[in-house]
Amino acid sequence: MLAELLLKWPLIRQLRDRADGTGPESMTGRTLELAPKNEGAKSARSICPYCGVGCGQLVYHRGGKVVSIEGDPESPVSRGHLCPKGAASYELVTHPGRAKKVRYRAPFAREWVDLPLEQAMEMVAERVWETRARTFDRTHNHTTGMAHLGGATLDNEENYLIKKLFTGGLGMVCISNQARI
Ligand code: SF4
Repeated sequence: MLAELLLKWPLIRQLRDRADGTGPESMTGRTLELAPKNEGAKSARSICPYCGVGCGQLVYHRGGKVVSIEGDPESPVSRGHLCPKGAASYELVTHPGRAKKVRYRAPFAREWVDLPLEQAMEMVAERVWETRARTFDRTHNHTTGMAHLGGATLDNEENYLIKKLFTGGLGMVCISNQARI
């Protein structure tokens, strides 16, 4: 009984096994039973949404819910590391305060209202088209009345399409990206 009790003490186990205290001998019963929060979860590859470094992430999910977001050891950019901001991506995705609706405040209005995404997209498109029509310089075939600043998580293909649509299609010359800035 006493021996059993003493063996629950990690130091005694360490002395008994002549171990160096860095393995299971130094763990309590509770610690030995602990499992990682993402045990048994599936993972999907992603990229950190914050800055231009583009660190690789593994998004672990179980039952349709994200359970954790960790650094991707196979990413040639970050090799499994995330800075404190990237390591907090799980909060970004799951925080109850996260905005999930389009919020709109009309000119001179004091109140914000929720808009359906479709309607908001229509409004953006209308404003882009109207601004282009109003500011297009036919001598130089361009407009400086609008600009586009991309986020750092845009990949090469998305940046290519943005440049093609906005410069080649709409004639915008002011196109940049957060990663470049
Ligand atoms: S983990 Fe940090 S350094 Fe890496 S992309 Fe995200 S914010 Fe940038």
